[in-house]
Amino acid sequence: MQAEVPSKLMALSHEVMLRCDQRGVVTWCDSRAAERIGARAGRPFVELAVPGTEAAAERFLDEIKRDAVVDQEVALLVDGKPSTVRFSSALEGDDAALLGLLVPRHFADAMSQIGRAMNEIVGLNRQISTQKRELSERNDELTRANTKLSESNQGVLSLHAELQDKSLELERQAEIKARVVANVSHEFRTPLHAILGLSKLLLDGTDGPLMPEQITQVQFIRSSCEELLTMVNDILDLTKVEAGKASLRAEKFPVTDLFASLRGMLRPTFPEESTVKLLIEPPADEIDLDTDRAKLAQVLRNLITNALKFTEKGEVRVTAERCEPEGIVRFRVSDTGIGIKPEDIERIFEEFTQVEGHLQRPGRGTGLGLPLSRRLAELLGGVILVESSVGRGSVFTVEIPTVHPEVSQMARLEKRSQQTPPGPSSILVVEDDRKTIFIYDKFLSMAGFHVVPVRSTPEARAFLKHTKPAAIVLDIMLENESSWDLLSELKSSPETADIPVLVVTVTNREHKARALGADEFWLKPIDQDRLLRKIRALSRVPSRVPSVLVIDDDERARYLIRSHLRGTGYTLLEASSGPDGVAKAREHLPDVILLDFFLENATAFDVLDELKAEPQTRSIPVIIVTSHVLDSDARSRLLTEAEAVISKESLSRELALNRIRDALRKAQVHPRPERAV
Ligand code: ADP
Repeated sequence: MQAEVPSKLMALSHEVMLRCDQRGVVTWCDSRAAERIGARAGRPFVELAVPGTEAAAERFLDEIKRDAVVDQEVALLVDGKPSTVRFSSALEGDDAALLGLLVPRHFADAMSQIGRAMNEIVGLNRQISTQKRELSERNDELTRANTKLSESNQGVLSLHAELQDKSLELERQAEIKARVVANVSHEFRTPLHAILGLSKLLLDGTDGPLMPEQITQVQFIRSSCEELLTMVNDILDLTKVEAGKASLRAEKFPVTDLFASLRGMLRPTFPEESTVKLLIEPPADEIDLDTDRAKLAQVLRNLITNALKFTEKGEVRVTAERCEPEGIVRFRVSDTGIGIKPEDIERIFEEFTQVEGHLQRPGRGTGLGLPLSRRLAELLGGVILVESSVGRGSVFTVEIPTVHPEVSQMARLEKRSQQTPPGPSSILVVEDDRKTIFIYDKFLSMAGFHVVPVRSTPEARAFLKHTKPAAIVLDIMLENESSWDLLSELKSSPETADIPVLVVTVTNREHKARALGADEFWLKPIDQDRLLRKIRALSRVPSRVPSVLVIDDDERARYLIRSHLRGTGYTLLEASSGPDGVAKAREHLPDVILLDFFLENATAFDVLDELKAEPQTRSIPVIIVTSHVLDSDARSRLLTEAEAVISKESLSRELALNRIRDALRKAQVHPRPERAV
């Protein structure tokens, strides 16, 4: 007999008991089986199964009819919901007794939650691994891009270096070309002059009169020879200008004088009975010029000759006027000739170009006149402009500064050298070419020398009477004189014999120079590094090499500045952060600081504040180098606290050097506290 089971205990149980006969019909069940799985005597067991799983329930019944089973799972509706019940069975006569273990509901819920969570986790996992894959693909891409970038960076750097080499090579080639052309042209000119001289002798009849026919023939020889000579001279001039070799000889003269000499020059070539009137009109108010008269005359002569050549009747008028902006003079050569088609206007400035036209006589002219004139006008700091209308005439306008830019620059240089009293580091530069003087000034002042330029030997002598310079750079072929005498005087007088003299000139006379006592002899053009080394060695003045501190967190930016300053004689210090920069500035007291505007964790203002806080570093000039567009507040604050602001895009060697030089000059005018060495 079964003992009565307390109902509360029953509620805690998860077991059901029932008995089935051979047909699978329930013959007995306990109350929980009736309550939870809906069993009752006379009900087929299969009806308790989850719909759709009846076949599995039938198979289960077959099994328990035959033998006892342990923990067989059957899908039944428990409390109306599909659940799994785990049955163990035993045979009792013809019936099979079943004990089923219900899986508790909360357990099932938890299981399904776990199932859902597992599913989610699996999904997430899948997502994560997809993302991981994508990330690693992206990473690979980035690495590839990075490699490419650093390769192209390297490429840019080596291209930069290559470009520098190429430009040096080009300069060298232009130099060689200029020399070859100069020599060849010289070789041409000598026989041409001989032909001209000899034909003149023949025409003069010195060795007996010529027959009229012979006179005509010799005159042809002469005019062909003159044309050839003009051509050779044009080629020579053009090459000189192109190679930057044409030296400027500026002088003061009024336009009226220039016009008078033009009239004089052109009259012999211009027949009185011509159908074209040549009017050279002096300006109403005199215009005084300080520029290269010969070159300006050459430009105007070319334009007037062309105008006369391409005008059959009417006039060629030449005028001059002052024009806006002030300091510019405008010359106009206008004609009433054949004119030039718009599409030919630019072409006529190309070398060896002649426009087809009925007035163009082949062989008359070289097509070099206008290119040369344009180059000469540019050399004078100006331009040539053309307006033309076919059949009506052309107007060629030349606009140039009344005072040549080099002359005004030279005046500033001379003023500066007069204002600063010459000290032991002054270098006397005896040179008549202003451009070369500027170059010396640039090289030498950067290295801490003070350049005193003079353009003639009397000026040099006057200077040497009261000052003994550290060294003399001497050009031999000066305007209207040579400086051989000065060299021998310097070396034979006990007061000046020990001043080192560096002869730099265009003609190879090293023997003579050395014999007269020159300490060094070089042919132009000079190499800046060599010049500095030599001057330092010769002058024996311990010149202080100015140092530049570059504060920039970008390695490439520092590299660029390093390349720009290479060979300039500056000592370069580098710092890759604001604090590092401030520390280096305090330790080394550089002469100039180039400071990046945006540093990592700091701006230029932070660095400036730190520098200004210390008396030692307060007055070091700072040049801001930035790749950012600064707002007006930042810009105006920087302009008061820094020496200059330059943008990284526009940073070139020239610009960097100019700004550094300006800063150094200013610093020399207001010396800062002695450095503690
Ligand atoms: P050239 O006069 O020796 O031929 P230029 O360089 O002086 O060489 O001139 C080039 C060409 O420009 C001339 O051949 C001519 O076709 C054209 N040209 C120059 N000046 C004038 C002008 N005033 N009127 C018309 N054509 C001109």
